[in-house]
Amino acid sequence: MTEELFREDATLLNCEATVLAIDVLPDGVAVVLDRTVFYPLGGGQAGDAGTLELSDGRSLAVADTRKHKERPGAVAHLLAPGVDAAALEAGMRVTARVDAARRQAHMRFHTATHLLCALVPHPVDGCSITAGYARLDFHMTEPLDKDALTAGIARLVAGAHPVRHRWITEEELDANPGLVRSMSVQPPRGLGRVRVLEIEGVDLQPCGGTHVANTAEVGTVIVTKIEKKSAQTRRVVLGFAEPAAGQG
Ligand SMILES: [Zn+2]
Repeated sequence: MTEELFREDATLLNCEATVLAIDVLPDGVAVVLDRTVFYPLGGGQAGDAGTLELSDGRSLAVADTRKHKERPGAVAHLLAPGVDAAALEAGMRVTARVDAARRQAHMRFHTATHLLCALVPHPVDGCSITAGYARLDFHMTEPLDKDALTAGIARLVAGAHPVRHRWITEEELDANPGLVRSMSVQPPRGLGRVRVLEIEGVDLQPCGGTHVANTAEVGTVIVTKIEKKSAQTRRVVLGFAEPAAGQG
């Protein structure tokens, strides 16, 4: 129902779109567009924030983005509390513009989590990617070394590996069960095709999120904490070496 432009091009930060519906949901007022550059919360990655710009110059703040619970296939742009939705009506043309700094942080951290997966060869049983930090839970009992992982990430960033996505059939995925690293997030089924993310020579796994185009763009990401969440779970928390670009 909403064309998801971010699936093919994560660098696209604005688009023209038509308002299809304005819904009052438990999460807030949700604006549905025919197409969007806003990524909805999913696969561990936080939803985008940004603005919807009207032709009369007004700008409405979008606080978060979710998959629409009542309209399958639609993306819900959740207006920030206090924003007057009366300015909107179905059929109206708007410019949807993503908060670029927040998205860039998501893309850098998300790509860094793939690098971490390449360094820690264990199944993932939890993932959270925000603008302020990222964390991955690995199903494992062995200890992990913070400095060694930070150095490993730095090496893969310095390696400037190209990052690209492609689509494979569900049959290809079934023939390669080793591709699925995550125990908690299974790739969506029933569409006939699955999006896989390849970091050349480093990592290959199904993923629908947004990523930078080259590991060099990840920049300086460090392991800030390693926690033993349970007997079988090690949590690795990532941060930027520079101050965070946005809120988590
Ligand atoms: Zn990914």
